[in-house]
Amino acid sequence: MWNSPKVGILGGGQLGRMLVESANRLNIQANVLDVENSPAKQISAHDGHVTGSFKERESVRKLAESCDVITAEIEHVDTYALEEVASKVRVEPSWQAIRTIQNKFNQKEHLRKYGIPMADHRELQNNTPEELAQIGEQLGYPMMLKSKTMAYDGRGNFRVNSKADIPEALEALKDRPLYAEKWAYFKMELAVMVIKTKDDVLSYPTVETVQEDSICKTVYAPARNVPDAINQKAQALARKAVSAFEGKGAFGVEMFLLEDNSLMLCELASRIHNSGHWTMEGCALSQFDSHIRAILDLPIPPKSLELLQPSIMLNIIGGATPDSHLKATEAALSIPNATIHLYSKGAAKPGRKMGHVTVTAATMHEAETMIQPLIDVVDEMRA
Ligand code: ATP
Ligand code: MG
Ligand code: MG
Repeated sequence: MWNSPKVGILGGGQLGRMLVESANRLNIQANVLDVENSPAKQISAHDGHVTGSFKERESVRKLAESCDVITAEIEHVDTYALEEVASKVRVEPSWQAIRTIQNKFNQKEHLRKYGIPMADHRELQNNTPEELAQIGEQLGYPMMLKSKTMAYDGRGNFRVNSKADIPEALEALKDRPLYAEKWAYFKMELAVMVIKTKDDVLSYPTVETVQEDSICKTVYAPARNVPDAINQKAQALARKAVSAFEGKGAFGVEMFLLEDNSLMLCELASRIHNSGHWTMEGCALSQFDSHIRAILDLPIPPKSLELLQPSIMLNIIGGATPDSHLKATEAALSIPNATIHLYSKGAAKPGRKMGHVTVTAATMHEAETMIQPLIDVVDEMRA
């Protein structure tokens, strides 16, 4: 029997907004915790939203009072607040999972126990040049210096090409908790959306992600020229990694495909993810639909996660001028089979994700041909 559950969402950005779209279609009320008029709130008129921050304990308490289950569109939330409210309201995925995952170093230490392959890495204790130089000796150059926390869109990563780069790298990431990672010589980056339900771990097909300046630019579903054996292997690895954490919902798993066709985990996120936006047009159930269903214990027919037709997703990112993203959107209007999603975030800044476009077609080649004019426009407007 349908009992109109209320879902609380920490964060009202574009991911929250697309979750609300899914909840709306099922008459499920989604109460969003974020600043007023955030993208998710704009498409959901009711009095259950909470004004505040997902980093404030008081706001999380307030949200918990009005919800049956709480989830998050971002991993950088106050997990101590979630731990506290977990005695009164369901938190999905678990606050323990979010706490471990939000610190990329702890995430990797945890996953290591489960035998998940990853690039070799070392923790920094004092963030000194001497310490990093010593790590450089061990890992070799180039290596990636990374912030353990608050990382997104590559903001928190610094490529250290040689010992000479060390002062600049430490200056760029100063005052942050750091670790360094051995360079991964990948031939392709892959990603898998995993859906953890009360008694199952499901996955969407493996996709190819293309990052430019460490920000996701395009996603190809399925991954191009990747044999089915690798597609299956990547899905299995992603499910195994996500199984190491407690709780229900969508998890985004990023991986490197190396020259010898072996796979390495890059990182995972305890939430719906940019690499899964293509599922909105590419599958019967989108990652957002599946997340809502998973946290509410509603059925998810595994067949609904299969690829219906090849899809390419392109992010519309703030570019060189404040209206770059509008020009890109205008160009997208004339692309056949293109679905445009704008996030209503207001002013664009270089590197800010303003929307995305997904093109579907009978074949990947056809989808590539159709989206190419838009990729050309976007390339011209890069910041
Ligand atoms: P996200 O926005 O996905 O959360 P993030 O800021 O957490 O990104 P990562 O996913 O760790 O950062 O890295 C961003 C990108 O940097 C990767 O997708 C990859 O292209 C590159 N990268 C990260 N680690 C390595 C590595 N060890 N070797 C080579 N390239 C790397
Ligand atoms: Mg990340
Ligand atoms: Mg990443």
